[in-house]
Amino acid sequence: MDFNLSEQERMIQNAARDFAERSIKPAAMEIDRSAEFPFELAKEMGSLGYFGLPYPEQYGGAGAGYIGYALVIEQLCRASMVAGALIAVNGLAEEAIFRFGSEEQKQRFLVPLAQGVHLSSFAFTEPATGSDPKAIETRARTEGDDYVITGCKMFIALSPASKVALVFAKDETERVSAFIVETSSPGYILHRVCEPMGVRGLCPSEIYLDDVRVPRANLLGPKGKGYAIMLEAISVGKLGVCAEALGVAQGALDLSLNYARERKAYGRPIADLATIKWLLAETASRVEASRWLTYRTAFVRDQGANIFKESAVAKLFTSQAAVDVTRMAMQVHGAYGYIKDMEIERFYRDAKLTEIYEGVSEIQRVIIADHLMTE
Ligand SMILES: Cc1cc2nc3c(=O)[nH]c(=O)nc-3n(C[C@H](O)[C@H](O)[C@H](O)COP(=O)(O)OP(=O)(O)OC[C@H]3O[C@@H](n4cnc5c(N)ncnc54)[C@H](O)[C@@H]3O)c2cc1C
Repeated sequence: MDFNLSEQERMIQNAARDFAERSIKPAAMEIDRSAEFPFELAKEMGSLGYFGLPYPEQYGGAGAGYIGYALVIEQLCRASMVAGALIAVNGLAEEAIFRFGSEEQKQRFLVPLAQGVHLSSFAFTEPATGSDPKAIETRARTEGDDYVITGCKMFIALSPASKVALVFAKDETERVSAFIVETSSPGYILHRVCEPMGVRGLCPSEIYLDDVRVPRANLLGPKGKGYAIMLEAISVGKLGVCAEALGVAQGALDLSLNYARERKAYGRPIADLATIKWLLAETASRVEASRWLTYRTAFVRDQGANIFKESAVAKLFTSQAAVDVTRMAMQVHGAYGYIKDMEIERFYRDAKLTEIYEGVSEIQRVIIADHLMTE
C-alpha cells in the first residue's frame, strides 16, 4: 500500500488549488447569486484540460487518471462546488462514450468534450422518477435510418451550455437504450431552468424531446443496454460526487479554522473553547475519512476495475460527512454563518446536493447491501 501521491499528482493538485484560489473563489458568490451558467469559468477550465482528466491523449484527454480527476474536483470544490460539479456532470457522458462508444463516436463526440471545446448533459431523470429506471417514459421509435425520441427530462444539469446530451429512452423492446443527441436538433427544447437551493450555476433544467430525430449512428453501445451504460457512467459520476463532497467539507473546515482563530469570546479566540475544539476535531476526522475513501475509489478505477460497490460506499459516507461538516462549520460561525454574505452559508446549501444527485443515499444503501449479500 502506498498512500503517497506521485510527483505528477502533486503538481496537478497544486495547480488546481492555485486556480481555485485565483479564478474560482472571487467568482463563487456571484455564480451563486445569479444562478447563471458560468460560461467564462467553464472555458478557462476547458483550456486547462480539466474536462478530459482521466482520458488518454488520443481522445483529447490529459491522461491524469481517475486520481487526477478526483484531486482536481476536490481542490475546485474548496472554492465552489459548481466548478467541480461541472467536471463530474460533463464526465458522465464522456465516461459512457469512452467505455461504450465506437471509434467514430469517440473521435466525433468524446474528443471535443475532453478538450473542453463542447460540454455535455446526461439526461436520465424524468418528472415522475429519478431512482427507478424501469419507470422512465421517454420513448425512442425507429423510423427509417433514424430513431425518433419523445418525452421529457427533468433537472438536467449544464443544459444552457451543452452541445450534446446522452438521453436514455425506452425502445420498442421496452428496454432502455442510450442515445447521443445533439442539443441543436429540432425538437430538443430547453423548456425551463429550475432554481435550486445550492450549486446554482449548474442550471438543472427541464427538457422537452418533441420527436427529436437521431441518426442510428448515435445509438451508444448495443440496443437495450442503456441501463448497463448508465450504471457504469454513474459509478464514475459518483466518484466525482465524492470528490465534490470532500472538497466542500475541506473548504468548510478551512473556513471554520480561520473563523475560530479570529472570533473572540471572553477575550479569547473561540478556538480555545472545548466545544469548538470538539466541532473542529469531528470535522477533521470526517474530512480525512472522506479523502481516503475517495482516493481509494479512484485508485481502484485506475486499476481498470469496476467501482459499483466502492463508489456507493464512498458516496454514502462522503455525502453524509459533507452535510454533517457544513452543519458543524455553521455552528462554529454562530449567527454570522447564517448570513448570506458568508461563504459557509453557501457551502451548507451546496453540500446537501451530494446526498441527492447521481443516486440518493437510500439507493446507495440498497446497492451496498445487495453487494454484501452476494459477495
Ligand atoms: C441540482 C440537481 C442536478 C441534477 N442533475 C441531473 C442530471 O444532470 N441528469 C439527471 O438525469 N438527473 C439529474 N438530477 C436528478 C437527480 O439525480 C434525481 O433527482 C435523484 O436521482 C433522485 O431522484 P428523484 O428526485 O426522482 O427522487 P425519487 O426517486 O422520487 O425518490 C424520492 C425519495 O424516495 C426514497 N426512495 C426512492 N427510491 C428508493 C429506493 N429504491 N429505496 C429506498 N428509498 C427510495 C428516497 O428517500 C428518495 O430521496 C439532478 C438533481 C438536482 C437537484
